[in-house]
Amino acid sequence: MMQAAYKVLNSVFGYDQFRPPQDQVIETLLQGDDAFVLMPTGGGKSLCYQIPALVRDGVGIVISPLIALMQDQVDALTQAGVRAACMNSAMGNEHNYQVEQQALRGELDIIYIAPERLALQRCLDWLLQCRLSLFAIDEAHCVSQWGHDFRSDYLQLSVLQQVFPHVPRIALTATADNKTREEIMARLGLEQARVFVSGFDRPNIQYRITLKDNPKKQLLKFLQTEHQSHAGVVYCLSRKKVEATAQWLSEQGIHALPYHAGLDKSVRQCNQERFLREEGIVMVATIAFGMGIDKPDVRFVAHLDLPKSIEAYYQETGRAGRDGEPSTAWMAYGLEDVIKLKQMMAGSEANEQFKRIEQQKLNGMLGLAELTSCRRQTLIGYFGDTLAEPCGNCDNCLTPVQTWDGTDAARKALSCVYRTDQRFGVVHLINVLRGKITDKITQLNHHQVSTFGIGQDLSDGQWRSVFRQLVARGYLNVNFDYGQLLLSETSRALLRGEESLMLRVDTMQTKSSKGGSKKSKSVDIKEEDIDLWEALRACRKQLATEQGIPPFMIFHDATLKDMLDNKPDSLQAFGNISGVGKKKLEQYGQAFLDVLSGDKVI
Ligand code: ADP
Ligand code: ZN
Repeated sequence: MMQAAYKVLNSVFGYDQFRPPQDQVIETLLQGDDAFVLMPTGGGKSLCYQIPALVRDGVGIVISPLIALMQDQVDALTQAGVRAACMNSAMGNEHNYQVEQQALRGELDIIYIAPERLALQRCLDWLLQCRLSLFAIDEAHCVSQWGHDFRSDYLQLSVLQQVFPHVPRIALTATADNKTREEIMARLGLEQARVFVSGFDRPNIQYRITLKDNPKKQLLKFLQTEHQSHAGVVYCLSRKKVEATAQWLSEQGIHALPYHAGLDKSVRQCNQERFLREEGIVMVATIAFGMGIDKPDVRFVAHLDLPKSIEAYYQETGRAGRDGEPSTAWMAYGLEDVIKLKQMMAGSEANEQFKRIEQQKLNGMLGLAELTSCRRQTLIGYFGDTLAEPCGNCDNCLTPVQTWDGTDAARKALSCVYRTDQRFGVVHLINVLRGKITDKITQLNHHQVSTFGIGQDLSDGQWRSVFRQLVARGYLNVNFDYGQLLLSETSRALLRGEESLMLRVDTMQTKSSKGGSKKSKSVDIKEEDIDLWEALRACRKQLATEQGIPPFMIFHDATLKDMLDNKPDSLQAFGNISGVGKKKLEQYGQAFLDVLSGDKVI
């Protein structure tokens, strides 16, 4: 049976080898058993169900939450010669009816279906009449309330086990800590499933968290020096900021588009299409954008606001570099972010338990931001895995962080909060510490408090750094009303001098040039190959435009690169290029051979 799987891998997808554990997952399904697959974004989850759906008799049903992207998935499969279709409310009744009929006649290999359809008795009745090869539940974390993408439609997927006990099921996700994992397995009735967890590391992504100074300018510099005309995503927290940032970047000559849930649906769709189809577009977006975006050549993900959890951060940054080529996860982070998020959480109306969970998750994220050791080791550790050595490809590894003994400064800061009755924000507290005479200080008589002027040895910026780290590390809480700082339980030991505290030395420079940027350059092309590379890209672009599909659906960058490395000169040789299956060989082989031989100039 595995022989058939290898054959499909090669003839349909054009690859020679499975990436473990793809082979084991596929074997499990081919034996008729259930599987639960946890793989990072870009790990290769799709083949885990696409290949068994092709090898087994009948049609494979893929449940996916994002109807806007189903058509793209179908297009990509059709390009490879797979008989695929999708069904969702956006497609219209006539289309959906046709798909049903085709499936009944055995004319389809794979159908993508929106989860809400499975609640319809009519849909279940139809499926009962079809010959089914498997059910694949993509983005399976959507069933978990503990996770961050909960969708109530996913809950009813438990019906599959009851109605189709003999059809193998596979659930797939990229994000899952143990708790989410357990919830997924319980809710989907996958207790018997074989579990496959592949390493969470994404070595081609360079993680960097830089201190916020002038975020827009820092972002621009990052884009200009490292990601000129690359496709990427810039995440912001609010819709307003998304629009302002997209506009500003456009004014600076960057090809930027906005995306958030408040935009008209047609605008949103149009921007998304352009991001997929055109090259080098920067999408400025809220987290409404991204799930299921299978664009392989996203070269960077930038955050202008702090995500609320490590899961969210890892999932968002994971959208970079699915093709395995060097990519950057860049974030600018500062005191205001910490205060804003803590304040939002203090004011949240959720129940206590939920709030506590949110708080814990935020603290994890803050810990990552303030970290002085390898970021990747911590990220991977968070997901229950280990990385023995520091990675060498994160900012802290590339430019080691200095630390200083901040015990004394922290005590001054905390006692200043106490002496001014825990009623003030950072700006005022720093003024008191530095002994400035402001109107507010005179009015409140704060030049009389014992902490007035005791902090002249540090600059405003250094004090901001101390306060940020105290809040991030939980020594200070933030009041919901006006963002006043309050002492937390844990601050006592520090105040009493029973505990010492090491703080990071903040440096403002963006660690762009040395070391970092070289690795972040997109696909490395040899000097003498640049013309040919551009010609191959132009050929790809032309073929894509003719069919109205994104260029990467013709061939990925990695495939073009393989052409450069091997310079095939016959159709047979071309068929050995990674990513070239039978159908694509027939359809596009000659066009690319002409470019490679110099016969065709585009
Ligand atoms: P995921 O869904 O896990 O994010 P995908 O299924 O989109 O990942 O795969 C990521 C990329 O890896 C795709 O470009 C895919 O073509 C490629 N890929 C997957 N499996 C293999 C393989 N066995 N050999 C070569 N490339 C692969
Ligand atoms: Zn590192």
